[in-house]
Amino acid sequence: METGKTVPSSFDLVEEKPPHVRLEPDPGKTGSYLKDLDYSVLQQCMHCGLCLPTCPTYVITGKEKNSPRGRISLMRAIADEELEVTKAFAEEMYFCLGCLACTTACPADVDYTQLFEMARAEAERQGVLDKPKRNFVRWIALKVIFKRPRLLHFLGRLLWFYQAVGLQTAIRQLQLTRLLPKDLRELEPLTPSVRRHFSQEIIAAVETPSEKKYRVGLLTGCVQDLTFSDINRDTADVLLANNCEVVTPRRQPCCGSLHGHNGEWELAKELARRNIDQFDLDSLDAIITNAAGCGSHLKHYDRLLADDPDYASKARQWAEKVRDISEWLDEIGIRPPKVSEKPENVTYHEACHLCHGQQITKQPRNLLKSIPGLELRELGESTWCCGSAGVYNITQPETAQKLLERKMKHVAATEAEVVATGNPGCMIQLQSGVRQEGLKIRVEHPVSLLARSYRSEK
Ligand code: SF4
Ligand code: SF4
Repeated sequence: METGKTVPSSFDLVEEKPPHVRLEPDPGKTGSYLKDLDYSVLQQCMHCGLCLPTCPTYVITGKEKNSPRGRISLMRAIADEELEVTKAFAEEMYFCLGCLACTTACPADVDYTQLFEMARAEAERQGVLDKPKRNFVRWIALKVIFKRPRLLHFLGRLLWFYQAVGLQTAIRQLQLTRLLPKDLRELEPLTPSVRRHFSQEIIAAVETPSEKKYRVGLLTGCVQDLTFSDINRDTADVLLANNCEVVTPRRQPCCGSLHGHNGEWELAKELARRNIDQFDLDSLDAIITNAAGCGSHLKHYDRLLADDPDYASKARQWAEKVRDISEWLDEIGIRPPKVSEKPENVTYHEACHLCHGQQITKQPRNLLKSIPGLELRELGESTWCCGSAGVYNITQPETAQKLLERKMKHVAATEAEVVATGNPGCMIQLQSGVRQEGLKIRVEHPVSLLARSYRSEK
């Protein structure tokens, strides 16, 4: 097969296509997501290679095909009809972490976010990875569970019960997890702790501070809502302490980042519309998220819904108003807490979708530095992916583990008491790293440290 001039010759991309199966049909404009892209986006890469040393998958394997430059060459070759979408192409797109370190390094401003999302969407559209088990897992997760907040909450309740009555601990102690199928056995240690109360039980629909200057909407997330609803409460408290009235719509759906990053573009659009409908945009100064992965996706609703006549303008308004909590506090000026708690050494791991996806680096540090008594200890390779990367630690456990071990070495070297990070996926991954390494270090969201400091004023 002719592989095309822009593709490194080491690529073996000749595969027979399995039968076409996909969740949501989308004819698109040309029948191809990559061809639908503005061609200038595909042309932007000038092959300079400056992104290579920042790409974790390239650094691990040393292979061009696992680098941003190699992946972009493949995408362009497909758009140019020099290559077909094959299983090998799709696997390469899923070997990419989507960490976006390449976008920070790139002098040509290559829009890798759009490229890799379209490449995965194209792989799914063509069904080259189809297998009954994979299709079922994707269908149940993306179309059933993460589309239905009530069902997600119900499953969260079951998991909470399983953990609260000690079944999980007993099963682990008796090593009964050995009886699970291999896939589930490997996933089990990553099971997050589910909270007793979800966000809407601990945050009122509207909470108003004594002195109100701003009115903001609060996004409670889906995984965040089950596993870190306390961080949502902390976020509301911090906003109230900074004169923001907090509006928290009930039963918010998933933001769709999981769908957008996993090739389900049509589902991502549907969830974006549903999210926008939850908020009265005209009445809000900002829409606040405390999850970096969600924030990075939420800020692209304008692009996602650009061709939707009913939602394009609302999506633009939405994208203008979305702020990460640290970004918003920095913008309005954080009120420093008045009392110092016990002095604490804290290091900060930068979630990829905050530092690379949104270029937010100084604001979380400013937030941490505003806390009296807190000493910020810089982390080596703080912007290097921890291996969480959405569901990467589930789909690519070996590479994710290598990245986690590298991260934990740096965390241990700081001898900090707390590692702070602004993304639930990173928190779960780091908690797993702390357990594996036997470290005595807490994993916290920066906003929780600030909320605790405000509470000690009382
Ligand atoms: S997103 Fe991350 S893993 Fe993927 S090409 Fe860019 S730097 Fe490499
Ligand atoms: S740094 Fe940018 S322009 Fe250079 S090879 Fe990487 S993606 Fe292409």
